[in-house]
Amino acid sequence: MTRNRKALADATIYPFWLDNPAAPETCGHLIGATDADLAIVGGGFTGLWTAILAKQRNPGRDVVLIEAGKIAHGASGRPGGIVSTSVMHGLINAARVFPKDLAALERMGKDNLDGWRKTIEDYGIDADLEWTGEMTVAVDKRHLAEIDEEYALASAHGHTVVKLNREETQAEVNSPLYQGAMWSRERSGTVHPAKLAWGLRRVALELGVRIYEHTPMTGVEDNGGTLTILTHDGRIKAPRVLFATNAWAAGHPHIRRRIVAVRDRVLATEPLTDEQLSRLGWKHRQGVYDTRTQLNYTRLTRDNRIIFGGRVGYYFNDQTDPEADRRIGTYDQLAGYFFKTFPQLEDVRFTHAWSGPIDLSMRLAVHFQRYYGGKGVWAGGYSGFGVTTTRFGAGIGLDILDGHEGPDLDLDFARTLPRPIPPEPLRWIGAKLTMYALDEVDEKGGWRKAWVNLVHKMGFPL
Ligand SMILES: Cc1cc2nc3c(=O)[nH]c(=O)nc-3n(C[C@H](O)[C@H](O)[C@H](O)COP(=O)(O)OP(=O)(O)OC[C@H]3O[C@@H](n4cnc5c(N)ncnc54)[C@H](O)[C@@H]3O)c2cc1C
Repeated sequence: MTRNRKALADATIYPFWLDNPAAPETCGHLIGATDADLAIVGGGFTGLWTAILAKQRNPGRDVVLIEAGKIAHGASGRPGGIVSTSVMHGLINAARVFPKDLAALERMGKDNLDGWRKTIEDYGIDADLEWTGEMTVAVDKRHLAEIDEEYALASAHGHTVVKLNREETQAEVNSPLYQGAMWSRERSGTVHPAKLAWGLRRVALELGVRIYEHTPMTGVEDNGGTLTILTHDGRIKAPRVLFATNAWAAGHPHIRRRIVAVRDRVLATEPLTDEQLSRLGWKHRQGVYDTRTQLNYTRLTRDNRIIFGGRVGYYFNDQTDPEADRRIGTYDQLAGYFFKTFPQLEDVRFTHAWSGPIDLSMRLAVHFQRYYGGKGVWAGGYSGFGVTTTRFGAGIGLDILDGHEGPDLDLDFARTLPRPIPPEPLRWIGAKLTMYALDEVDEKGGWRKAWVNLVHKMGFPL
């Protein structure tokens, strides 16, 4: 058996975060017809934050949320759980997509993060939050320019950031791959995402939100002044509907024009012993992203496991539940990257392997699709960067639904849509070629680099 397969031999294919006795009993499913002032479809972070914000803004509003499966069993119970301030997938991406609005987006990101934190603290949600910062590490000397660029931007926008050279970076987190880093020390860190979602669910219920799990939306009827959301055993009539369905919306003929449903893979190790931890350093326990084009991200859990993620895959027709991701062999390559990153941990085994859906958009950031004459809004497109941004997406989605106006809602991020993505079979061919190229572009270059540059020129951020 190979080293990777041996390390994966006892792993359960299920998210470590959800494999927890703290998981709440599910709410019953919807039976019969009901009315509401606001209906929410989807019980991940976007749906939960929409419900909470709607109640906080107007406690008298009657809010119903339906979830196809269980709360947080979509992306929200599966991420790395690295907490970031930006609402646009990082400063470099924000500067790429909305350069003239950068200052406003930075202000909104800081306000959003502070509101996110305040709700967690005010309602006593125990989500293993650690305000340890996030570190972008260069895994190749050629990537140090990217660190310089991010550092200049972050400093100019008032972030508390430190630039580290090779030795300083490896003193923080001991990987021979790490060549330098930027450590952003404020408003960022790590969270247990499932405990957060379960806490938000509790808050929503306490505020009077009606939640129905195992209740997939099967259709929508437009009745003029209201929409009716159809489910297997019931229906909800509401004048406003927020669709918080993340990558599943890639099955929708209109929404899918702007997003691709990709899968991202993650591994969790067994808890490290003190001796194993001492081989790593990592005393400050930062969340870590690397600069590889097919990036890896990693962090520690409260019980000192390493979470290590990041091998994106695409399946024909935007599949959100591919058979391949239920086979352990699919996680082989990611395990290989783990050992390349931390070769001193050859004796460590994985306990969990899983994948999750990502709603990739050309902007790599949340956008808002309006339907049914403005009675329905789909909020998504976070592109794998939504642990805190989903609260922002929920708030803006609600503003749009409620017809609010103001300078922030006039900005391009709220008014405009990302560029469309080609349909099948071009989507599949393009995605496959790109992912194949990305796997080794940094090491091998050649045609891979030419292809990645071409895709980049077409407007897809890589
Ligand atoms: C592997 C992975 C790693 C990630 N790591 C990070 C990270 O470290 N930091 C970060 O900021 N972000 C990260 N993200 C992104 C972040 O997790 C997501 O952006 C965020 O959770 C999206 O929340 P959501 O509520 O929009 O979607 P989801 O949590 O996916 O919720 C959508 C819900 O809609 C439900 N639904 C779908 N169709 C229907 C229907 N017809 N009827 C009713 N319900 C329906 C689904 O069942 C699902 O529960 C990661 C994502 C993945 C997958």
